[in-house]
Amino acid sequence: MRYDDLGLDIPNVCGPCETAPCVDICPVYAMRRDPVTKMTYLDEEKCILCKSCVGACVNGVILLDTFRMRIIKCDHCGGDPECAKACPTNAITYGPTTSLSSVDRHGKIIGYLKEIERTDVAQETSGAE
Ligand code: SF4
Ligand code: SF4
Ligand code: SF4
Repeated sequence: MRYDDLGLDIPNVCGPCETAPCVDICPVYAMRRDPVTKMTYLDEEKCILCKSCVGACVNGVILLDTFRMRIIKCDHCGGDPECAKACPTNAITYGPTTSLSSVDRHGKIIGYLKEIERTDVAQETSGAE
Protein backbone atom coordinates (compact mmCIF):
# COMPACT_ATOMS: atom_id res chain seq x y z
CA MET A 1 0.00 0.00 0.00
CA ARG A 2 1.27 3.48 -0.82
CA TYR A 3 0.71 6.18 1.78
CA ASP A 4 1.52 9.37 -0.11
CA ASP A 5 1.00 11.56 2.94
CA LEU A 6 3.62 9.58 4.87
CA GLY A 7 5.91 8.92 1.91
CA LEU A 8 5.74 5.21 2.68
CA ASP A 9 5.05 1.99 0.81
CA ILE A 10 3.97 -0.70 3.26
CA PRO A 11 3.53 -4.31 2.10
CA ASN A 12 0.16 -5.81 2.89
CA VAL A 13 0.93 -9.46 2.28
CA CYS A 14 -1.59 -12.25 1.92
CA GLY A 15 -0.67 -15.14 4.27
CA PRO A 16 -2.15 -17.15 2.64
CA CYS A 17 -4.33 -18.78 5.30
CA GLU A 18 -4.66 -22.51 5.97
CA THR A 19 -8.36 -22.09 5.38
CA ALA A 20 -9.25 -19.01 3.38
CA PRO A 21 -12.25 -17.13 4.78
CA CYS A 22 -12.03 -14.70 1.86
CA VAL A 23 -12.80 -17.56 -0.52
CA ASP A 24 -15.49 -19.12 1.66
CA ILE A 25 -17.41 -15.89 2.11
CA CYS A 26 -17.50 -14.70 -1.50
CA PRO A 27 -21.07 -15.14 -2.77
CA VAL A 28 -20.13 -15.18 -6.45
CA TYR A 29 -16.96 -17.30 -6.37
CA ALA A 30 -14.81 -14.35 -7.38
CA MET A 31 -12.10 -15.50 -4.96
CA ARG A 32 -10.34 -18.74 -5.74
CA ARG A 33 -7.62 -20.70 -4.06
CA ASP A 34 -4.76 -22.47 -5.78
CA PRO A 35 -4.92 -26.04 -4.44
CA VAL A 36 -1.14 -26.44 -4.60
CA THR A 37 0.23 -23.12 -3.35
CA LYS A 38 -2.85 -22.27 -1.24
CA MET A 39 -2.58 -18.72 -2.59
CA THR A 40 -5.88 -16.92 -3.12
CA TYR A 41 -6.72 -14.86 -6.18
CA LEU A 42 -9.41 -12.40 -7.12
CA ASP A 43 -11.31 -12.53 -10.41
CA GLU A 44 -12.32 -8.91 -10.93
CA GLU A 45 -14.71 -9.87 -13.72
CA LYS A 46 -16.86 -11.81 -11.27
CA CYS A 47 -16.57 -9.44 -8.29
CA ILE A 48 -19.74 -7.55 -7.39
CA LEU A 49 -18.00 -5.35 -4.78
CA CYS A 50 -20.04 -6.66 -1.87
CA LYS A 51 -16.97 -6.18 0.38
CA SER A 52 -17.64 -9.36 2.36
CA CYS A 53 -14.05 -10.49 1.82
CA VAL A 54 -12.73 -7.19 3.18
CA GLY A 55 -14.25 -7.94 6.57
CA ALA A 56 -13.43 -11.64 6.41
CA CYS A 57 -9.71 -11.33 5.76
CA VAL A 58 -7.93 -12.21 8.98
CA ASN A 59 -4.91 -10.09 8.07
CA GLY A 60 -6.64 -6.97 6.76
CA VAL A 61 -5.08 -7.64 3.37
CA ILE A 62 -8.14 -7.05 1.20
CA LEU A 63 -9.13 -3.44 0.64
CA LEU A 64 -11.64 -1.50 -1.41
CA ASP A 65 -10.02 1.06 -3.67
CA THR A 66 -12.68 3.76 -3.41
CA PHE A 67 -11.06 5.81 -6.17
CA ARG A 68 -11.21 3.12 -8.84
CA MET A 69 -14.01 1.16 -7.11
CA ARG A 70 -12.32 -2.19 -7.18
CA ILE A 71 -11.11 -4.70 -4.65
CA ILE A 72 -7.35 -4.82 -4.24
CA LYS A 73 -5.55 -7.77 -2.77
CA CYS A 74 -1.99 -9.04 -2.57
CA ASP A 75 -1.39 -11.70 -5.24
CA HIS A 76 2.30 -12.19 -4.40
CA CYS A 77 3.01 -10.23 -7.59
CA GLY A 78 2.64 -13.40 -9.62
CA GLY A 79 5.53 -15.05 -7.75
CA ASP A 80 8.04 -12.19 -7.99
CA PRO A 81 7.10 -9.88 -5.09
CA GLU A 82 8.00 -6.22 -5.53
CA CYS A 83 8.09 -5.72 -1.74
CA ALA A 84 10.83 -8.35 -1.41
CA LYS A 85 12.82 -6.80 -4.26
CA ALA A 86 12.50 -3.30 -2.82
CA CYS A 87 13.52 -4.14 0.75
CA PRO A 88 17.09 -2.83 1.22
CA THR A 89 17.94 -5.18 4.10
CA ASN A 90 16.36 -8.38 2.75
CA ALA A 91 13.99 -8.38 5.69
CA ILE A 92 11.35 -9.59 3.25
CA THR A 93 12.14 -12.82 1.47
CA TYR A 94 9.96 -14.99 -0.71
CA GLY A 95 9.90 -18.77 -0.75
CA PRO A 96 8.05 -21.83 0.45
CA THR A 97 6.07 -21.32 3.62
CA THR A 98 7.44 -22.76 6.83
CA SER A 99 5.64 -25.44 8.73
CA LEU A 100 4.04 -22.74 10.87
CA SER A 101 0.30 -22.63 10.32
CA SER A 102 -1.54 -19.32 10.28
CA VAL A 103 -2.93 -20.24 13.70
CA ASP A 104 0.64 -20.62 14.97
CA ARG A 105 1.62 -17.30 13.39
CA HIS A 106 -1.36 -15.51 14.88
CA GLY A 107 -0.59 -17.09 18.25
CA LYS A 108 2.94 -15.73 18.08
CA ILE A 109 1.69 -12.26 17.21
CA ILE A 110 -0.81 -12.32 20.07
CA GLY A 111 1.94 -13.43 22.44
CA TYR A 112 4.17 -10.62 21.24
CA LEU A 113 1.40 -8.04 21.71
CA LYS A 114 0.70 -9.36 25.20
CA GLU A 115 4.40 -9.09 26.01
CA ILE A 116 4.43 -5.46 24.88
CA GLU A 117 1.36 -4.78 26.98
CA ARG A 118 3.00 -6.38 30.02
CA THR A 119 6.15 -4.30 29.46
CA ASP A 120 4.11 -1.11 29.22
CA VAL A 121 2.21 -1.94 32.42
CA ALA A 122 5.46 -2.77 34.21
CA GLN A 123 7.02 0.52 33.11
CA GLU A 124 3.95 2.48 34.17
CA THR A 125 3.97 0.71 37.55
CA SER A 126 7.66 1.34 38.18
CA GLY A 127 7.28 4.94 37.02
CA ALA A 128 4.47 5.50 39.48
CA GLU A 129 6.58 4.39 42.46
S1 SF4 B 1 -16.05 -7.95 -2.77
FE1 SF4 B 1 -15.93 -9.21 -4.64
S2 SF4 B 1 -14.37 -10.76 -4.19
FE2 SF4 B 1 -14.99 -9.84 -2.22
S3 SF4 B 1 -16.59 -11.20 -1.42
FE3 SF4 B 1 -17.63 -9.56 -2.57
S4 SF4 B 1 -17.86 -10.33 -4.65
FE4 SF4 B 1 -16.37 -11.65 -3.61
S1 SF4 C 1 -6.66 -12.55 1.55
FE1 SF4 C 1 -6.72 -12.57 3.79
S2 SF4 C 1 -8.21 -14.20 4.33
FE2 SF4 C 1 -7.64 -14.49 2.19
S3 SF4 C 1 -5.97 -16.01 2.25
FE3 SF4 C 1 -5.02 -13.93 2.22
S4 SF4 C 1 -4.70 -13.38 4.38
FE4 SF4 C 1 -6.17 -15.13 4.33
S1 SF4 D 1 3.78 -9.49 -2.83
FE1 SF4 D 1 3.29 -7.77 -4.25
S2 SF4 D 1 1.09 -7.39 -3.93
FE2 SF4 D 1 1.83 -8.59 -2.15
S3 SF4 D 1 2.42 -7.06 -0.58
FE3 SF4 D 1 4.27 -7.54 -1.77
S4 SF4 D 1 4.35 -5.97 -3.39
FE4 SF4 D 1 2.25 -5.98 -2.56
